Amino acid sequence: MTIRSTFITIVVTVAVVLTLQGFVLLSYYHEYLQASQRVEAANTLIRDLLNRRFFLMEYLLRNDDSSRVVWLDVTGVIEKKVSAYEDMSEASDIEAVQSVLTSSKQNFLILVALRQQASTTGTQSTIREQETMLISGLLEDEQAAAGHLTNIIELERAQSSKAQASILSLSLVVFALFVLLALVLFFFVQHNIIQPLTRLGVVALSFAMRDFGTRVHIDSKDEVGMVASAFNQMATELESYHADLHRIIEQKDVLAERTHELDMQKNKFIGAASHELKTPLTAISLYAEMLMSLSKKNADAESGKIAQELHVQAQELNALINDLLDIARLQEGRLPMQFEQVVLNDCIQKAVDTVKGSCEHMLKVDAKKRITAYADKRKVTQVIINLLVNAVKYSPNTKCIDITLSQQGPDAQICVRDYGIGIAPEEQEKIFQQFYRGEGMNESTYPGMGIGLYFAKEVVAYHHGKIWVKSTKGKGATFCFALPREWEAEASRSAQS
Ligand code: ADP
Repeated sequence: MTIRSTFITIVVTVAVVLTLQGFVLLSYYHEYLQASQRVEAANTLIRDLLNRRFFLMEYLLRNDDSSRVVWLDVTGVIEKKVSAYEDMSEASDIEAVQSVLTSSKQNFLILVALRQQASTTGTQSTIREQETMLISGLLEDEQAAAGHLTNIIELERAQSSKAQASILSLSLVVFALFVLLALVLFFFVQHNIIQPLTRLGVVALSFAMRDFGTRVHIDSKDEVGMVASAFNQMATELESYHADLHRIIEQKDVLAERTHELDMQKNKFIGAASHELKTPLTAISLYAEMLMSLSKKNADAESGKIAQELHVQAQELNALINDLLDIARLQEGRLPMQFEQVVLNDCIQKAVDTVKGSCEHMLKVDAKKRITAYADKRKVTQVIINLLVNAVKYSPNTKCIDITLSQQGPDAQICVRDYGIGIAPEEQEKIFQQFYRGEGMNESTYPGMGIGLYFAKEVVAYHHGKIWVKSTKGKGATFCFALPREWEAEASRSAQS
């Protein structure tokens, strides 16, 4: 049986029992009210009888018409009340009262007739004897009626008390039923709901402690039993997921280790290859320079141009190899840094001078204030060059590039703004990753290796600074980096404290 149907059964049974008991209680209450009303009516009748005795006395003393009429009126009223009482009571005494009333009325009428006869004939002495008999009969009748009424009152009172007692005992039964019901409900809820839920809670807690081997043991076929079996199924699934997850994490760790090893090998290779490339490249540069001076000497302009071009290309290759070497050193954490107080205006100027010869863009510098920072001059200059080279490269259709230097709180901030192709929002985070190149970057239109921004980010991190970009696709990009101006002093202060 399910908890739901058990509850419905209990509620319906309680409702039926309570309704029945309510009806019985109402009927007892009705009985009690009627008995009380009848007691009240019998009391009124006794009072009326006493009144009637008073009017009888008045008639006997005064012998006038008005007191006679009043006696008869009162008797009429009492008769009506008695017959009304007969309708609502089953007491046998009420019939006796009725007959006493009839006989007393007859006696009274005889007495009246006797007195009238005596007043007309003047035979007082013979009548007095009869009158005395009638009067004593009348008084006895009233006594008898009062006696019967007293019996009736006692009877009705007994009935009223019985109804009262029934009401009380039934109320006690209802109360006891409620207590019993509360107890039954308490044990039912405790046994079928609270205890199993507590067990479920304990097992759920062990899941929270990553022990997925525990199970709930509830055999009932009700809703809680269903929850428990679903819970156990879920636990089995969780256990297998957990095992899978564990395996995946282990594999991931192995993979991460392997990736790290491969990264190291790659860096080693890049470092070694770059190093190896540098020696012949230096020779090529030297030969190109020699060729240049030889062709100058021989006035061979064409060979001189070729030698010049060869020299430029060799230098570009050299710069590229230097970049690769820097990246390899960065990865190994051995990029040499030379920190000193640097005038950032000089770094900007140097970078602008380096880039402007190889582009047609207008590089506008806004650096009125002289700002210094504790930095590696060459690396910071290289970062600005990287940003400027990108600004030139990625704004082929616009010619203006703005460079600003400003002080922002404790930081020195350098921004490079172009009005070129811009960067989509989803790419703005990724472009600082190593070897990442923007979507659709065509090698012939935008050549590059995806290391310029990575290098800039790492160098700025060495300075405890930060680098970011703001851009709208198609409307250009602004790259900024901030260097804390006094980080060295701060670092030594915090180290001391
Ligand atoms: P590279 O320029 O060699 O691809 P970078 O690390 O310098 O490598 O830049 C990474 C990517 O960021 C670029 O491929 C390009 O998609 C994007 N990017 C960098 N600077 C700009 C810029 N000024 N405007 C638009 N895109 C840029």
